[in-house]
Amino acid sequence: MDNKTIIQYFEWYLPSDGLLWKKAEAQAKDLAEVGITDVWLPPAYKGASGSKSVGYDVYDLYDLGEFDQKGSVRTKYGTKEEYLAAIAALHQNGIRVMADTVLNQMMGADETEEVEAIDTASNNREQETSGLHTIQAWTRFTFPGRKGKYSDRIWTAANFSGTDLDQATGNQGVYLFKGKHWSDETDSENVNYDYLMGVDLDFDNPDTCQALLDWGKWYFETVQPDALRLDAVKHIKFESYREWLKLMRRSTGKEFFAVGEYWSGDLNRLLHYINVIADGEPSKTPDKKAEQLPEEEYNAIHEDPSDSGSPECSTKQEEPAGNSALNTGITPVLHSVQDAAGQVNDAVSREAKKIASAGCAGNRPNHTQGTQIALFDVPLHFAFLNAATSNGQFDMRTLFDNTLVRAREECAVTFVDNHDTQPGQSLESYIPEWFKPIAYSMILLRDTGTPCVFYGDYYGLEHDNESPILDLKKLISIRRHYAYGSQKDYFDDPSIVGFTRSGDDEHKSSGLAVLATDAGEGMKYMQISPKYAGQQFYDALGRHHDPVTLDEQGGAEFHVHDGYVSVWVNKEAYSYIRTRF
Ligand code: CA
Repeated sequence: MDNKTIIQYFEWYLPSDGLLWKKAEAQAKDLAEVGITDVWLPPAYKGASGSKSVGYDVYDLYDLGEFDQKGSVRTKYGTKEEYLAAIAALHQNGIRVMADTVLNQMMGADETEEVEAIDTASNNREQETSGLHTIQAWTRFTFPGRKGKYSDRIWTAANFSGTDLDQATGNQGVYLFKGKHWSDETDSENVNYDYLMGVDLDFDNPDTCQALLDWGKWYFETVQPDALRLDAVKHIKFESYREWLKLMRRSTGKEFFAVGEYWSGDLNRLLHYINVIADGEPSKTPDKKAEQLPEEEYNAIHEDPSDSGSPECSTKQEEPAGNSALNTGITPVLHSVQDAAGQVNDAVSREAKKIASAGCAGNRPNHTQGTQIALFDVPLHFAFLNAATSNGQFDMRTLFDNTLVRAREECAVTFVDNHDTQPGQSLESYIPEWFKPIAYSMILLRDTGTPCVFYGDYYGLEHDNESPILDLKKLISIRRHYAYGSQKDYFDDPSIVGFTRSGDDEHKSSGLAVLATDAGEGMKYMQISPKYAGQQFYDALGRHHDPVTLDEQGGAEFHVHDGYVSVWVNKEAYSYIRTRF
């Protein structure tokens, strides 16, 4: 099996020219040839800022660039037709498509409503700082431009928990609507981090849950994504996503891959989320309503014959449509759901009502569920940042300490930067350019984690005059062809660290040695494999022109230049990389 490599196919400051879907379509073949297997496309639905929206200010989940709403038909990235054409082209080239899913908040309502609310403290959301008072909130979404196509649902204040603006006074705050509470099982930053921005979806309202199930089903049927990237999961009631994922997998008959954005450098928070979502462990605050249900009713709600029960969040998944081996891992139950197409709606709807009746929750001690999820390895991103900004004083032996890829590699999507960490963004923590080839070698060439390459590193950041990262395409291609076999680590020096891959029989000329340093140049003896004894190995990144000859154990003293990385491969691999890039 070939290595999987995701590319995040956008950055924050792309021009609002409506051309990204066309670019993805045009580039699909090249991406596949370089070694990209999965493309994460940005949120495709209409945002409050219309054709300028990056996609996280969700206005209408059903408008994929099809209706004249918010000042344009197309989104920042193009029209619905162009979106579907891009996905078809990616599929034709054997690339899976990962769709960005933004379910925490909505913005740009069509009308305001008078809502009774209390103020909560911005740094302690459980603390009420006022009595009930009436505010004018942007909570009524009627989608006049869509005229009920695909869904005639209207969203109102009942579907939301709170907002940040009182239109009547212009005051801003964190307003919690009357009769609502912030969901217990969210991140504990600000005591309760349910509320992020816009109007916050109320996952304790069955109607909200049903709306998201209906939409999810429509979206999968319309778009045919192969995987999902889930936005802002730490702000959404943990159990809700577990249930939603389970139902989507059941209704689509696909055990699709899902990676959540849980933005925290604290490994323990990531592990806790995985425990709750993937392993079915109870969250810190068990749902009170579910606890109070009679035992039979509780079991009826939570009985789920399709649970795989697997605690692993394996990144293995089906090939995209058009390729063979579809749905090989699906249980008979899922097949029967898929076959009985006419009954799918009913089955999903019944389940949604059951779950909604328990407030979208569904967790109690000792109940195990098998929803699988991966998370972005945020702690590793911050380790890269520390290493890159410590003037050569970072202890490179500690690079993977307290990272998700070390703790639960099968659940880790590793990355170097993204649209939030890039210059000018809210979570700016951009990895300096000199360190990026080192960071990418650490996510692309090792045997753990699923790497995600950033658009801005692959194509450059036009807005900031940043060029594409040197050697990145080479590293992706080396990953695709040669980064196989068992791994041997040499993290034994504060500055110069390395590892080797032994190669395997399936991939010709595979096997390599990687040596990196955050300080001065140097050398290290490392072993690749005895099968390469006597062969010459070359630095595929081209900093060293002389090859090294492996000894009888398949080892050698490898070199690395100041503040860089060298990747040593055999002559055949070297020729392939050098002639292509
Ligand atoms: Ca929320």
